[in-house]
Amino acid sequence: MSTIEFVDLRAAHDSIRGELDDVWATTLSRSGFIGGPCVDEFERDWAAACGARAAVGVGNGTDALELALHAAGVRPGDEVIVPTNTFVATASAVVAVGAHPVFVDVDPADLLLSTDHVAAAIGPRTTAIVAVHLFGQMAPMREILDIARRHSLSVVEDAAQAHLASRDGRAAGSWGTTAAFSFYPGKNLGALGDGGAVVVGDDDIAERVRSIANHGRSAQSRHVHLLSGRNSRLDGLQAAVLSVKLRRLREWNDRRRLVASWYEQALADLPVTRLRRGAEDDVFHLYVVRTPRRDELLAHLGANAIGAGVHYPVPCHLQPAFSTDRPPSLPVAEQAAGEIISLPIHPHITESDVERVAWCVAGFFRARHVA
Ligand SMILES: *Cc1c(COP(=O)(O)O)cnc(C)c1O
Repeated sequence: MSTIEFVDLRAAHDSIRGELDDVWATTLSRSGFIGGPCVDEFERDWAAACGARAAVGVGNGTDALELALHAAGVRPGDEVIVPTNTFVATASAVVAVGAHPVFVDVDPADLLLSTDHVAAAIGPRTTAIVAVHLFGQMAPMREILDIARRHSLSVVEDAAQAHLASRDGRAAGSWGTTAAFSFYPGKNLGALGDGGAVVVGDDDIAERVRSIANHGRSAQSRHVHLLSGRNSRLDGLQAAVLSVKLRRLREWNDRRRLVASWYEQALADLPVTRLRRGAEDDVFHLYVVRTPRRDELLAHLGANAIGAGVHYPVPCHLQPAFSTDRPPSLPVAEQAAGEIISLPIHPHITESDVERVAWCVAGFFRARHVA
């Protein structure tokens, strides 16, 4: 029985092997290792793809979030609203700028930020909302921006799972005060190592982020440091790899949507709950369904050589790193955390693989007499 990988990076890279080999040769001959023409070119193309003014390549997605929060004006002591159902990095970035994450519950239908919960969490010290576009689907940005405007809050997009996702005809990264992307290898657009980008609609903010991420250096003079900065830079090799993959991204996202449509059909009559998905240009970073028998199903798929995962089994407000003496009760996310399972999805999975996954899920419930 062959294994169905959860994410198959080997297949993706095999399909562009020649171009990746060229990247190595070009980078060596150009000797542009940190910054340089490959980074400039990728930043320009990525900003254009997102419909934003500028992109600044940084070391990873978590740094991108931290810099995006800072650039959006979040300061030590501020409160920042964060959906509890996200990867912990969303919350760690808030803590890294000295602010306090205020965790809120999510919409039961799609597990994205719910505007009712956001509105209820706004207090006198709130300065920003992090809108996480989880699983490849965008948070309800129009409504979130409305609330933010009424309360004079910044909005930072965590678009680490939403490369070229869009809603109401506008791409992820073009809505917020600032936005953060991760190019971790397994993301829809991934490097061959760590990488990230801050995407902004304003040249001055972009320059400030660029300076902070490069030792606080002045754009005019290499030896003048305007701020006490840090080092978080995208390297030339990764930027060149990202440019190669960016040329495939629309096609690969289309393919993910097709795979999701196979799942929708194949799972339609099975006792799993599908999330509300497929909002215009959902890019299906993950394909998540729910069942109260999640742990058993996960083990069953594993025993049948099918890679599945859980994103995420512990909501942030219950993680030891963030929990307080009296953690809030966020029942939708708490229940979902015990029921969600992510089925394998990537651009190179085949229709017969998806059928085998669905067949295996069906067999699991049949054996347990669940209709
Ligand atoms: C991957 C991810 C991050 C962090 O990105 P890194 O590049 O791993 O630092 C942040 N938020 C979300 C939602 C992610 O999926």
